[in-house]
Amino acid sequence: MRSSLSFTLIITVIFASGYFFYTALAICPIPITYRIGELDGRFNLTEDEARLSVTEAESVWEAATGKNLFTYDAKSDFTVNFVYDERQAFSEAEDTYRAKLDTAEQVTETISAEYTELVASYDELQVTYKSKVAAYESHLADYNETVERYNQAGGAPTDEYRKLQAEKRSLDVGQRELEVLRTNLNQLVDEINLISEQGNKIVARYNDGVATYNDTFGQSREFTQGTYSSEGRIDIYTFVDKTELRLVLAHELGHALGIDHVTGSTSLMYFLISDQPAELTLSETDLEVFASVCGEGSRWDTIEQKIRRLIIKITL
Ligand SMILES: [Zn+2]
Repeated sequence: MRSSLSFTLIITVIFASGYFFYTALAICPIPITYRIGELDGRFNLTEDEARLSVTEAESVWEAATGKNLFTYDAKSDFTVNFVYDERQAFSEAEDTYRAKLDTAEQVTETISAEYTELVASYDELQVTYKSKVAAYESHLADYNETVERYNQAGGAPTDEYRKLQAEKRSLDVGQRELEVLRTNLNQLVDEINLISEQGNKIVARYNDGVATYNDTFGQSREFTQGTYSSEGRIDIYTFVDKTELRLVLAHELGHALGIDHVTGSTSLMYFLISDQPAELTLSETDLEVFASVCGEGSRWDTIEQKIRRLIIKITL
């Protein structure tokens, strides 16, 4: 009786577009200072939690490169903002709906288990009933045959007559037992029909729910989860959990370093949330691009070294 549709969700999520603005403007001005700016209460995130998420995201870069790339500074002009709009609202609505479907699925499973149990009891009782009916009918046939024989012989002797009367009482008891069994069987059938009817209604409602879910949330769609602006801000729009938030933040911080999108779906700087590992590490490609933008011998590194040399000269 159980029937469920599996979710066929294809959700693609994209990070910021518009990165072409900063590739020319921001060239690894490390360490970049930042602070938490706007934090919409609807994200259910405290400022400390938001700050911790950014710290975790920056450590993805810092641990892999051994450089201090980002520093929290309460006075920084660079802000990380949590902007609540229809994207996060949609994501939350999806979560709520999915939870409802999960509950409905559990109910259908419970009902299905009860149904299976009842049918098994019914099958077992029916076997007993059938064998008892067969025994009763055979007993009755023997009794009738004996009675018929004595009737044709003009009557039974007293002893035989008493025996036959006792047999008749035993047959009556047997008949009543069979009636009780039959009543029990009929009650089981009623229960089975009732549970089947209820179960079918619940399954129908569940299937309607899945169809609505797929219509509403199952379309392939793209979300911009966060953006980086070279004016000095990262805006976060939506995330399903802290792991995803960390990924989006780490990606946008990468843009803040001046790193462009790269190919390879496991890369942090890939344009989609895709096959990046949950524990978040930089791919070879991420590291290569980092090195070219921000690492030893990069344009920034060279500029930084030139400036240092100039400063040393001035000091001298
Ligand atoms: Zn991006």
